[in-house]
Parts: sequence; C-alpha cells; structure tokens
Amino acid sequence: MNASPHFAQTYAEARDKFLAAGADRGARMFRDVHPSERGVQGEELSIDGAKIGDDNAPALLLLTSGTHGVEGFCGSGCQVALLHDDAFLAAVERADVCVLMLHALNPYGFSHLQRTNEDNADLNRNFVDFSSPLPPSPAYAEIHGLLLPAAWPPPQDSETKLGAWIKARGDRAFQAAVSGGQYAFPDGMFYGGSHPSWSNACLRAVLRTQASSRQRLGWIDFHTGLGPRGHGEKIYSGRDDPADIGRAKTWWGSEVTSFFDGSSTSARVSGVISAAAYTECPRTEMTAMALEYGTYPLEQTLQALRAGHWLHNHPEAPAKQREEIKRALRDTFYVDADDWKAMVYEQARDACLQAIAQLATERASN
Ligand SMILES: [Zn+2]
Repeated sequence: MNASPHFAQTYAEARDKFLAAGADRGARMFRDVHPSERGVQGEELSIDGAKIGDDNAPALLLLTSGTHGVEGFCGSGCQVALLHDDAFLAAVERADVCVLMLHALNPYGFSHLQRTNEDNADLNRNFVDFSSPLPPSPAYAEIHGLLLPAAWPPPQDSETKLGAWIKARGDRAFQAAVSGGQYAFPDGMFYGGSHPSWSNACLRAVLRTQASSRQRLGWIDFHTGLGPRGHGEKIYSGRDDPADIGRAKTWWGSEVTSFFDGSSTSARVSGVISAAAYTECPRTEMTAMALEYGTYPLEQTLQALRAGHWLHNHPEAPAKQREEIKRALRDTFYVDADDWKAMVYEQARDACLQAIAQLATERASN
C-alpha cells in the first residue's frame, strides 16, 4: 500500500488523520487534553489513544509517536497507515492481541516543531526518579555555553573552541555529552526536566490501566534523526538485562542494537520512557524498542537542535529567523518525500507484525 497519504504536514492535521482512521476502523478512542498549553495555531493539544483487537487479550502491543515532538510526523504517519492496512488489522484479529496506539506523547513539541515539551524537557530523559539524586552531567556543563552562545549563528571563536573540545575528546564523547541527558541546565539541550512532565503522568496512567493486568507488553516507540536516511535502527529500550535484550533480539532480529553495549548509534541515555513500565506494570513482561529512522547526518540534526534551543532562549529573535529555524527543525526530523515514507512504513509494519507474531506465539506456548 502507499503510505504517503497518511503522513501529515502539521500536528493538527496528523491528529485529524489519526482520529479519522481510528473512527473508520471502529477503534476504541480516548484522549488526554493538555490542561494549559495550546498549539502553534491555537489548537487544542492532546495525547490520543486508539485501541484495536481483543481488549481482554493477555498481550498488548503499544505503539507510541511524538515522544520527541517534531519527530512525531514519522510515527504518526506509521500509526495512521497501520490503521488503513487491511493485512495488519487481519493479523491483529488472528493473533488475539490488543494493540494500543498513543498519538503524540509530546503534542506541544509536535505542534510547535521542537524536540522538547512545554517545560523545555526531553520526554525521553524525563523518566528518572526525581526524589533521588539526578544523573550528573559534567561533560555537558563544559560545553553548554558553546552549544548555545548568545548569538545565532554562533560566533566563530565559540565554534573554534567547541571544535577543539570535540577534537580532544572525540565524536562519541561529544555525542554522549550533548545527548545523554542533563538535569542541571533548564535552558539547555537534552534537559530531562525538574519533575515528571504532564506527558509522563498521562503515559503512566495509560500503562496502569491498559497494561498492568496483562502478561506481556510489546512496545515500539517511533523516533527520527539518527542513522542513514530511511534506515530504521531497532534500539533496545528497557533495563540493562541480558534476558530482556535477548528477547528483543528474538522478536526483531540480531540487528537490534543497545546503547548498553555500545552497538547503537545512540549514546547511553538516562530517563527513557520505557522505564515507566517497570514501575507501573511490574508484573508484565515487557519487550520494547525505539525504532529510530535516519534522516540527515548527525551534524545537521544537532545543528538544527542547537538553533531550536537558542531560539527558545531568545524569544526576541526576528520573525524571519524564527520561521527559518522552525522550518529547518521540521525538515531535518521529517523527510517529506515519498521514498522515505515508503521505506519507513515498510519497516514499521514488519516490526509490528513481528511483535504480534511473538506476542501470539508466547501466548500459545504458555
Ligand atoms: Zn527521538
């Protein structure tokens, strides 16, 4: 099938497509409306849920989009396309698995074209225990001022200093310092927040009500911005446990990567969303991954994120510059081209069918 028509140009359009597709398929729908924030066009912001398959099934497949706001164009397109995919829906029925799609976990970032949420927090660094000491980030502290200088584009002397830091420490150390997650600079990049965000609370409530009484949970969280164009890297998500990582490889193949052993293009990060399942549904066996699609080279995505954060810290920036930075963010994390969408959807569909087959198989063998 041609997936392209199911991808959108704005958050509002994406949500409309999702709601229409869910209604068309007779999905059970629900929504959490953001209590205080609005979208870029003044629209309501919400996390929307669509559930298909047997609600009493012992296994749940959870598909989430928009954890990183602007990356939601990809995950939303995949969710909507799946709701139009007869073969996928037939497989769900046959397997006796319940499928829950959560659309736009971070609707503020999706609508306002930014990775972070309304608190400038990275939702995928927000699932830490805020009552305990937070992970330190000494390397980020060294380069915070260079990543986000007072002026944009960054002055040459500042870029020279940043280049020297990268040369001395290496590219991987730089990526880890920037993207690992930090809790000390509320105006900085990859900031994990100071408290559980609204989206965090919503997701936890959904896990409690939809997953905690089931035996097994499969979870695919859609992302973009790392790796070769159109390639979906299957990044294991969960705790550093050999049995859990092994099960993810059984489900999705030996190409599943992990930042615990350095096999992923992602740096090791703290506070990822799948951590919520361990506390909200402790008796449910979880097998989870982030499906991370490549768009453009890392230098380009990082530069777009730096500009976006600079803009966040400089609301006085001229309208033209604001527009250019936002446009670059969208275009960097969403390749608005038919061939990319086709590649993305094919891999998403395969991963979902693999997960459903495994959830059904495990049921049969129990
Ligand atoms: Zn992401």
